[in-house]
Amino acid sequence: MSEPGKVAVIGGGTMGNGIAHVFAQHGWDTVLIDVSRDQLARALATIKGNTERQVGKGTLTEDARQHLLDRISIQTSLDVAHDAKLVVEAATENPAIKFTIFRDLSRICRATTILASNTSSISINEIAKHTDRPEQVIGMHFMNPVPVMTLVEIVRGKRTAKEILDRTVEISKSLGKMPVVVKDSPGFVSNRILMPMINEAIYCVQDGIADAEGVDAIMKYGMRHPLGPLALADLIGLDVCLAIMKVLQDGLDKHKYTPAPLLEKMVADGKLGRKSGAGFYVYRD
Ligand code: NAD
Repeated sequence: MSEPGKVAVIGGGTMGNGIAHVFAQHGWDTVLIDVSRDQLARALATIKGNTERQVGKGTLTEDARQHLLDRISIQTSLDVAHDAKLVVEAATENPAIKFTIFRDLSRICRATTILASNTSSISINEIAKHTDRPEQVIGMHFMNPVPVMTLVEIVRGKRTAKEILDRTVEISKSLGKMPVVVKDSPGFVSNRILMPMINEAIYCVQDGIADAEGVDAIMKYGMRHPLGPLALADLIGLDVCLAIMKVLQDGLDKHKYTPAPLLEKMVADGKLGRKSGAGFYVYRD
């Protein structure tokens, strides 16, 4: 059942391009869908650059790279998902956007299609309520950068069918990933642990206890984290971090998960991290 087929990846941002890359690398006929043509062009350029690096490192042959790129097409309409075996939604972390996409998918897709969301924190049960087939809906939470990170946090909703869970686990393994199944809960496990740490690191900068380099150095050289929490926040996207903190706050505890005011301010100022060129650090490309 984990034989490659057609996958529709919705959203061509930070995560969508990586998800499309990995599926295409493993033989899936991959259509990447975004409302923005510019974003699709950027996604393809990123995939080309990342696969070129893989060839340079000797982890991909030039021939395999060409097949990978040939398997990816880009589209702006959801309708092309109609014959997909699997849909992985990786659009903006905004409940209203995701609910509309899933409502449309239940009109467009055939009954057997697995409807997966890569959401970092939005309830899979809530997303499923916006479809006419909640048993087909599941969380398939890839980690950033997708071609490099092994974990896929699989989120089983209250109504997700056992068969869909098993197939999603099998597909994740066939992509060379390590699936871990968790229950639906705000932030699941990964972000319930990670985001409060990032938020606390931001409070340290806000309170003037250390600068970003200092905070990151403490976690890298003292706790053996490969990347400091603020460099990681820039990689994730500060808007995504803020959205996740708000989900934890609304779903778990208003006080404990209050987003740091500095995080709110940086997002309001358009400092979103790597994707906007600046966050806690400045990025030249
Ligand atoms: P992003 O802002 O980089 O990209 C989101 C993309 O969605 C944009 O290209 C946007 O044009 C597109 N989009 C918006 N509305 C759309 C629609 N209706 N149809 C199609 N495309 C639409 O966001 P991202 O960081 O790639 O995050 C995407 C999802 O992945 C979110 O749910 C996020 O929580 C999750 N996620 C993010 C990370 C991370 O590190 N950034 C990690 C794991 C999961």
